Amino acid sequence: MHNLKIESVLSMLKRIGDIILIQLSSSDSNIYLIGDTAIDSGTGFNFTRLRDILRILKRDLKDFRQVILTHAHFDHIGGHGFFLEAKASVHMDDAGVLERGDSEAAIADFFDGSLKARKPDILLKGGEKIKAGNMELEVIHTPGHTPGSICLYDAKSATLFSGDIIFANSVGRTDTPGGDANAFAASMEKLRKLKIERLLPGHGDPVLSGAKKVLEAKLEETEYM
Ligand SMILES: [Zn+2]
Repeated sequence: MHNLKIESVLSMLKRIGDIILIQLSSSDSNIYLIGDTAIDSGTGFNFTRLRDILRILKRDLKDFRQVILTHAHFDHIGGHGFFLEAKASVHMDDAGVLERGDSEAAIADFFDGSLKARKPDILLKGGEKIKAGNMELEVIHTPGHTPGSICLYDAKSATLFSGDIIFANSVGRTDTPGGDANAFAASMEKLRKLKIERLLPGHGDPVLSGAKKVLEAKLEETEYM
């Protein structure tokens, strides 16, 4: 790779301590790498970019043991096949979308994509603790954006991987298939009880300190108080 290419590839990559954040394009979900764990997989449209990034990191797609999917929307799960040897985990209430390759429920059309069917390896219920690098990620079931949306929480570092529930400057939508505003409000209440220092959302920039304050301020503007 010549320098220009390396530069553009590096712009898609952020290091957050031991966590690597990859942003392949504006359509792709954020992909987080922690040790041999990936959280979300993007659309699957930008395989070569991901491969180039991993090459710079001296990592191989085959090295990943698990990919945890925060919910079954195409921009998060379309790339599940990238991680060749990884077991795919998804909440049981979103698992059928992946298993059937249900492009409609995965809003794949919105991204001009079509979802490949895959039987998930691990069905999550909520409450599980998943080891990922030095983190222990608690699965928190936070329905509302989709029925099986989850957040992943590392209590030790007060880090919340929030999927499409909360972003740095907004909250997730509930008007797509399977969305439920009441369930979403209840999920927000669940998250409010957590100590959150770092917020690592499914899209856009992370919040790297004092994330709870940012969230509280945002929540005060919304109906979710
Ligand atoms: Zn989504």
